[in-house]
Amino acid sequence: MKILKVDHIGIAVASVDDAKKLYSDILGLPHAGSETVAEQKVTTAFFPVGDTEVELLESTAPDGPIAKFIEKNGGRGGVQHIAFRVENIEEALAELKAKGVALIDEKPRRGAGGAKIAFLHPKSTFGVLVEISERA
Ligand code: ZN
Repeated sequence: MKILKVDHIGIAVASVDDAKKLYSDILGLPHAGSETVAEQKVTTAFFPVGDTEVELLESTAPDGPIAKFIEKNGGRGGVQHIAFRVENIEEALAELKAKGVALIDEKPRRGAGGAKIAFLHPKSTFGVLVEISERA
């Protein structure tokens, strides 16, 4: 398995529009685009920083994973996941599984920007939700 870089850092927020005021207006990061991923019940907004990106995540439904994260976090947003870009996600998943890493997604699914993504279980990653992603 080859990890190429930190693809992005996922930050849960109650409102992408509110959080944009910090990331765009105050920190001055460009807004590279927003997208709603219906199957994950989330609206995302990406802000490139050097060779990586900040991904803001706002839930589109009260039972979505981001809404649950904020609820568990005492009603506040926060860093929700870190994503590593890999060369080949199918190979990476097979290798991780063979090495006993617990996977949330056994097969890649579609993420924002057309990426293929999969999540590793935090019980195998010292409490951090880790995403691996492959982009064409
Ligand atoms: Zn992500």
